[in-house]
Amino acid sequence: MIRGIYVHIPFCTYKCPYCDFMSVVNSEISHEDYIKALKKEINFYKGLKGEVETLYFGGGTPSLLEPKHLEEVIKEIDKNFNFRPSEITIECNPETFEREKFREFKNLGIDRVSVGVQSFTDKGLKALGRKHTLRDVYTFLEGVFELGYENVNVDLIWGYPSQTPKDAEKELRELEKFPIKHVSAYLLTFYEDTPMGISYRRGEISPPEEDTIVKIHDTLSEGLRDLGFERYEISNWAKRGYECRHNLLYWELEEFLGFGVSAWGFYKGRRYGNTRNLYKYMKLLREGKKPVEYNLSLDESELRKERIILNLRLRKGVRKELLPDIPEYLWEFLEEEEGRVKIKEEHILLSNELISEILRFYDLNPKKME
Ligand code: SF4
Repeated sequence: MIRGIYVHIPFCTYKCPYCDFMSVVNSEISHEDYIKALKKEINFYKGLKGEVETLYFGGGTPSLLEPKHLEEVIKEIDKNFNFRPSEITIECNPETFEREKFREFKNLGIDRVSVGVQSFTDKGLKALGRKHTLRDVYTFLEGVFELGYENVNVDLIWGYPSQTPKDAEKELRELEKFPIKHVSAYLLTFYEDTPMGISYRRGEISPPEEDTIVKIHDTLSEGLRDLGFERYEISNWAKRGYECRHNLLYWELEEFLGFGVSAWGFYKGRRYGNTRNLYKYMKLLREGKKPVEYNLSLDESELRKERIILNLRLRKGVRKELLPDIPEYLWEFLEEEEGRVKIKEEHILLSNELISEILRFYDLNPKKME
């Protein structure tokens, strides 16, 4: 049963040097044509069962679109599915704030704004190669709160070259000036084939030393807790009741559809992924074909494995009976509460390694679900 829909909007005004997302700058493909293609794609899936509770416009920079474009997409979804939204999110960049536009977004039912602040310090913005300034961040946040948006997420990136724990404290001092309800804070990844990834491999830039990384992490997580945020996923904190419903669908292995270039979906035990090539995406839809390029059917055992991976990202953890038999040493990093197993808070920076290790034992001895 489909419960959520993700729509990818690939347009950006510039390419950030660390960005690995599918996004295009100065594309000759117009917003109008892309919306037409999206509507065709949505039509392919009409009639699928479910109640669509969440809609997420991600990107790219969806806030570059005109409200009428988003309205067309929302109407098409409403026409084709049982659409009962309890959360509609739009991802935005700070420099895209326009009062009238955001007022209209709100009138369309968009009630959650996720803004790529990335850093509340000019030092951080410069290190990350962002083009917006702290002033843009203030203008954006003041603007959306004045318009009455209540559910606002800010994305932060930490662990950038030369960042110190003191810089992390500054992030928190700025953040607390606004009634922000949700924070996604990701450790900077130096993806291959991005300008920052290439500079990193050439030795031109480097992240802070490991013990500094730990201190920055602890400063942020303790600071966010002191500000009343609860960590509910490895990289996500929310004030109670403001957890992102859409992203929870992913981590709970619920079914969702993804529309747009490079979008992913999951339904009927199948993961599918659209082409990452915008021209190919447009061409396939012009020819009346689905733009799906990857299709992976997961059997019972693979589904359980996915559930272990995704649920262990959540602070509430995974149901114990899904775990394979694991050796004693791994239990030192885990804790059990009400039949669920989670990674201890103090070992959260080792999450990826711990999950891989648990999966190694799963592959040796896949366990049947009762
Ligand atoms: S604004 Fe976001 S999607 Fe666009 S290039 Fe920067 S990080 Fe990537």
